[in-house]
Amino acid sequence: MTPNASDLWFLPLGGCGEIGMNLNLYGHDGQWLMVDCGVTFAAPDAPVSEPHVQMADPRFIEDRRDALVGLVVTHAHEDHIGGVAHLWPRLRCPVFTTPFAAEILRRKLGEVGLDGVVPVIIVPPGEQRFIGAFNVEWIDLTHSIPEPSALMLRTPAGNIFHTADWKLDPNPVLGKPYDPATYQRLGTETIDAMVCDSTNATLAGHSASELSLEPGLREVISSAQGRVVVTCFASNLARLVTLARIARETGRHLSLFGRSLNNMVSAARATGIWPEGVSFVPPRDLGYFPRDTVMAIATGSQGESRAALSRLARDRHPYLSLDPGDRVVFSARIIPGNEREVERLIAQLRQQEVEVITSEAYPLPIHASGHPAEDELRAMYDWIQPEIAIPVHGEAAHIKANADIARACGIPRQLQGQNGDLFFIAPMPGVRRGAAPTGRLGLQGELLRSL
Ligand SMILES: [Zn+2]
Ligand SMILES: [Zn+2]
Repeated sequence: MTPNASDLWFLPLGGCGEIGMNLNLYGHDGQWLMVDCGVTFAAPDAPVSEPHVQMADPRFIEDRRDALVGLVVTHAHEDHIGGVAHLWPRLRCPVFTTPFAAEILRRKLGEVGLDGVVPVIIVPPGEQRFIGAFNVEWIDLTHSIPEPSALMLRTPAGNIFHTADWKLDPNPVLGKPYDPATYQRLGTETIDAMVCDSTNATLAGHSASELSLEPGLREVISSAQGRVVVTCFASNLARLVTLARIARETGRHLSLFGRSLNNMVSAARATGIWPEGVSFVPPRDLGYFPRDTVMAIATGSQGESRAALSRLARDRHPYLSLDPGDRVVFSARIIPGNEREVERLIAQLRQQEVEVITSEAYPLPIHASGHPAEDELRAMYDWIQPEIAIPVHGEAAHIKANADIARACGIPRQLQGQNGDLFFIAPMPGVRRGAAPTGRLGLQGELLRSL
C-alpha cells in the first residue's frame, strides 16, 4: 500500500468516527505525512483496569516509518498533541508545530526524558515549509487555544485544506480574529479536498465569540457576595485573560488553582503571548483576603476527583475553604459521559450551601465552544469550494451532519468514513473501507499496551 506520484491519499487512524485521539496520515509519491497525534481519556465509569490515557495504535505507519517524512501538530489540545511523547519512539520523525504548541510539547517530552531528543521544528503561524513532497502552509484560524492553524497541503497530485479544529471568531480576545480574505484567497486555487472538523455540525447557527462572554462573566462575578471560584478548561487562555480583567475591575484578588492552569499560563508567558500586566496572587495567600475580594480559577470542570474544584467541594484544598454563600461558576460545558461526576460535584458544593452557576442554566453566555456550527461550516465551504468534503473529528452522526451541510453548499462529493478507511483524493476519488489496521493503545505506567 504505497501511494505513487499521481496519488493523493488520506488515512485517519484516530479521531474519525469518534471524538478524541486524532491521528491523520496523508500519502503521496511514496511518502506519508502525519497530522496530529492526540490522546483520549477513559470514560469516568470505565473499569479501573482500563488505562486512563489512550491513543490510536500507529502500527500501520510504524511499519512504514522510513516513508514517514514528518508530523505536523496543529495545536496544543490533548486530542492533537497528547500522544506525541508516547508514540514518537515508534515514529522517529521530525515534528513541526507553532511556538506555543512547541512549548507545551517540550514540557511533555521533558516528562518522559525526550526533550532535546525529538527534533521539534518551530514554524511561525502563516509560514510554509516543504516536508518531503508536501508543501505545508500554516493558515490562521480561530479556536479555543492560542495559535490554532489550518493546513494547506500542496502536492503535484492535488491540494488539501485540512481545517483542524476551528470556529469563526471575530473577537477571540487572545490572538488575531479570523479573516475571510484568507479563505477567499485559498478558494481561488483548485482544492481537491477539505478535511474538516465535525464536532458541532449537528448544531444550528454560529458559535459564540469569546469576547461575547465578557458581559455574562462580569455580571456573575460582580453580583457575588462572597468568594468566587470559576472553573474552565485550562487551555482556554483567552478565557483566563477575560476572567483576570474582570477580577481586576471588580476588585478581587485572583489565584490559579490547578497544575494544568499554571502550566498553560507559564507556557503562554514563555512564548510571549500572555498579555502584559495580567498577573495572579499566589494561591497560599488567597485565604487571608476578605471573602468578597477573593476569586480563583480552578481546574476540574468535568468533576475530576483529584482536580482543585473537587478538593474545594470536599473541603480538602490546602489554601482555601468555601463558606455558605460563596459562588462557583462553570464557564465550561459538560463533556458527554461526565454528567454523573459533574452532578456529584455540584451536589457536594450545594451541600456546603455554595451557590453553583452553570453555563447551561445562566441566561447570558458564559461559555463558548471552539468548534464550528452549521453557519460557520457553510461559510467555509462557500469560501474554499473543495471538490471533495471529508468530514472528520466527530462521531458518525457529526460526520453525516457535516457531509449534509457540504452537499447543501454544492460541494460535488462528500466522503464519509472512519478510522482505517483509505480515502482516495487523486487521481480518482473513492474510499477503501478498512484498508489499514486500527486500534487503541493505553498508557500503563510508562508502557503502552493494546486495548
Ligand atoms: Zn480536537
Ligand atoms: Zn482543539
